[in-house]
Amino acid sequence: MKFYSTNNKDYRVSFRDAVVEGLPSDNGLFFPESIPGLSSEFLNNLKSYSLPEIGREVMSPYTEEDIPSDILMSILEETLNFEIPLVPVDANIMALELFHGPTMAFKDVGARFLARCLGYFAVAADQKVTVLVATSGDTGSAVGHGFLNVPNVDVVILYPSGKVSPLQEKQLTTLGNNITALEIAGNFDDCQAMVKKAFLDNGLRRKMHLTSANSINVARWLPQSVYYFWAAAQVQEGKKLIISVPSGNYGNLTAGLLAKKMGLPIEHFIAASNANRIIPDYLQTGNFKPAPSIATLSNAMDVGNPSNFPRLLEVYNKEFKNIKSQISGASFSDEDISNIIRDVYQSSGYLLDPHGAIGYLALLNFEFGYNEVGIFLETAHPGKFDEVMNHILDFQISLPERLNERINMKKQAIQLPVEYAAFHDWLIK
Ligand SMILES: *Cc1c(COP(=O)(O)O)cnc(C)c1O
Repeated sequence: MKFYSTNNKDYRVSFRDAVVEGLPSDNGLFFPESIPGLSSEFLNNLKSYSLPEIGREVMSPYTEEDIPSDILMSILEETLNFEIPLVPVDANIMALELFHGPTMAFKDVGARFLARCLGYFAVAADQKVTVLVATSGDTGSAVGHGFLNVPNVDVVILYPSGKVSPLQEKQLTTLGNNITALEIAGNFDDCQAMVKKAFLDNGLRRKMHLTSANSINVARWLPQSVYYFWAAAQVQEGKKLIISVPSGNYGNLTAGLLAKKMGLPIEHFIAASNANRIIPDYLQTGNFKPAPSIATLSNAMDVGNPSNFPRLLEVYNKEFKNIKSQISGASFSDEDISNIIRDVYQSSGYLLDPHGAIGYLALLNFEFGYNEVGIFLETAHPGKFDEVMNHILDFQISLPERLNERINMKKQAIQLPVEYAAFHDWLIK
């Protein structure tokens, strides 16, 4: 399987090169040259496969020319070694809990897969690579944890000062070893722009081997398709799936679209967003209008220029009619988030986090047809946002042990202004 740039179909590279380069030099995104259809034998028997086995069926068409099958399987076993349960919340709404990994957010899946692929390629080529990642909170810690102590790989995390939760900050800044955190005096879009600029800086790229770990890297993006199959495997036979994805950069949602293209019968998708309603607006008007990001309670979704938009277009050959018929948009305010977290906790005892809450709300407002059930992605553990949660609920939620340990560690970050030159100079120092 080759991967082309969404800006130029003649720019084609192997899976390995797509992973190592991260981003094509023409500022597009890598995209598979064809979307493999999976066998009906597999699709009709999902329940008889383990999670890593589902991973192998979904991933091997993309990786088979570059990663031997036994190594792919061991990468998947290490990546997907935590539970991803489908938990009923209401009669016809379920949460796909993606937060049982080491940093308690769905990004663990892609980050761990990417780290292990890059580690495999870097060691095989005897190369040293530097991973650059901009984060609005969760990406950085998932990537940092995923890469901790992976040989031949250094990780540099850029995060917006004061715009991530105290716990997220500790998760980013306490790893040490091959992981460095840069605290940028700007917002997430500034961090993302600095990373993009570094990738386009040929002078810099001659001096060091850069790669990305944002959801734009194919090795982070593609394995996110796997849990859509796993979710379907846990649903009662004959039910049609409505899937609601709380979204920011749209990596998760576009991975779901890919799963559908590979043959998974998903009836409909909902692009659930907070006040940053770029995609819901696009789905209404057909105009994609990036805007400065707005700070909300679901801060991992505060994205004003969703980086995976070109992939969304690509899945549907840029046919807006098609896109519109398969995806609905929904957008909710901070007040909606607070109210629904309280309501659901009081009525069922289920604790939504501020991101999953948006996915849930979108389903609550969706008109289900006959035999349809709704699944929303619970993208992070509510304990990750304990300050917000405590404020909403008016009591102190208990933190899982894994997060409690981090809180008491010492922050280590390097402060930089929003200035590409400063970032550049620090990198080559
Ligand atoms: C990153 C993140 C999202 C948004 O996911 P995208 O793939 O960027 O759309 C949603 N919720 C949480 C908790 C996240 O960390």
